[in-house]
Amino acid sequence: MTVKVLGVPYDAHSSYLRGPASAPPAVRAALNNGSANWCTEDGRDLDPDRGADWTDLGDLDLSDDVHQATALIRRAATEAIADGSKLLSLGGDHLVAWPLVQAVADRYDDVTIVHFDAHPDLYDDLDGDRYSHACPFARIMEEGKVARLVQMGIRTMTPHQREQADRFGVEVYEARDTGVVVPALEGPVYVSIDIDVLDPAFAPGVSHFEPGGWSTRQLLGALGQIAAQETEVVGADLVEINPELDVHGLTAMVGAKIFRELLGLML
Ligand code: MN
Ligand code: MN
Repeated sequence: MTVKVLGVPYDAHSSYLRGPASAPPAVRAALNNGSANWCTEDGRDLDPDRGADWTDLGDLDLSDDVHQATALIRRAATEAIADGSKLLSLGGDHLVAWPLVQAVADRYDDVTIVHFDAHPDLYDDLDGDRYSHACPFARIMEEGKVARLVQMGIRTMTPHQREQADRFGVEVYEARDTGVVVPALEGPVYVSIDIDVLDPAFAPGVSHFEPGGWSTRQLLGALGQIAAQETEVVGADLVEINPELDVHGLTAMVGAKIFRELLGLML
């Protein structure tokens, strides 16, 4: 079974700063800049030129109009997975997770989402915007198509979002609870990674600096725990890298590393 990679360059409903729309080419450049090899940490070669079973579909051409953009993302994702392929998407801001998960939940029953983020992204609306990148997991959960939402690394919970988490039965593992382990997972899994789950010391190229976050090693460890379970990761996204705020291309390089490990997890 192959993995398809899709660039989803959309950031028109970011609440604070734009920039993540330029992440897909920045991460691809980091993947191909020659400074690192194509192997996962467990030694599997993912170089497409040496026959690794994945293809890059390139970037979607998206307008700022949120209804047009999300409809196009959902349609493209639906088409990409129609033949049983898995889908690894490069955002874009976190709103893109909503139409991506819609496509995956249309195809697979009882999907569990494992969501890594500093932020729960559960606002019913942010400043009147229901399509803010602070809202996608409220949109996903109110549609009721996924079995379970597990959030990890959270460190910006508000009273409203706590209510939303309770309302939707979200399992929240906060960053302040050190020593957190990924819970037992069942059924098809969708992994959504907002790069700001990492401490800004590790990933400074983000729109919302939130200190007190995970190390790159902790995130890789969590992905390893998912890999060790018998569930299948059928879809994933990596979002919220903001190249305009990056330092020495560090966040793009971290993104490339996470991308490789996610790809290895899915293959
Ligand atoms: Mn997010
Ligand atoms: Mn975030």
